[in-house]
Amino acid sequence: MVETQLLPRGISDRKTLEAFRNVPREFFVTDAYRDAAYEDRPLPLLCGQTISQPYMVAIMTQVLKLPEDKKALVLEIGTGSGYQAAILAYMGHSVVSVERLPELVEFARNNLENLDFCGDVKIFQGDGSSGWPECAPYDAILVTAAAPDIPAPLIEQLKQGGRLTIPCGGKDMQTLKTLTKTDNGQLEIKEELLCRFVPLIGKHAFPEGD
Ligand code: SAM
Repeated sequence: MVETQLLPRGISDRKTLEAFRNVPREFFVTDAYRDAAYEDRPLPLLCGQTISQPYMVAIMTQVLKLPEDKKALVLEIGTGSGYQAAILAYMGHSVVSVERLPELVEFARNNLENLDFCGDVKIFQGDGSSGWPECAPYDAILVTAAAPDIPAPLIEQLKQGGRLTIPCGGKDMQTLKTLTKTDNGQLEIKEELLCRFVPLIGKHAFPEGD
């Protein structure tokens, strides 16, 4: 996966690559997809949701430019399988992850349970489009579901100097955007690539049943 999918596409961050070499992706897929765990595509989970393609997880991790020598507090919206949270935890960061669907909260908690480096991952059930103000502010925020725009509460909960990455656009196609809140509070937005995610459903995203 690292040699054929990540390095050739420009993933070069040392700690990101190390995490991909060591976090067992097969722990995070359903039994039916165990043999396909390392394939170059998203895979179905429960409740119509997906575990993202390895490259998408890697690029979203890399663009956050997390410190190598310091523990960052990272908010993830859309826990899904728990794989992205495990990658961040392996890199030595504290993770607060919010998932809307109770079935996936339980699935992710079970997946993370037996990995000793995941002690610093907290999973909460709720609408992550409002962020998770109880643990804010965050050094970095990563949204792993598609929103029409960047939810304002997430920008508020990001520290100065922090980065946020999120797929923005319609339900069929999005652009992965990275927002940086500069040290003087300015917002800089960079467009990374086109992508396709399941929708972020909530108060500051797509309405339910739309
Ligand atoms: N990061 C996940 C992983 O590593 O497996 C993949 C996430 S999956 C592509 C998107 C997830 O976002 C789904 O599990 C979905 O239920 C969740 N989601 C959608 N709307 C949400 C919301 N408002 N708050 C929290 N989670 C949400």
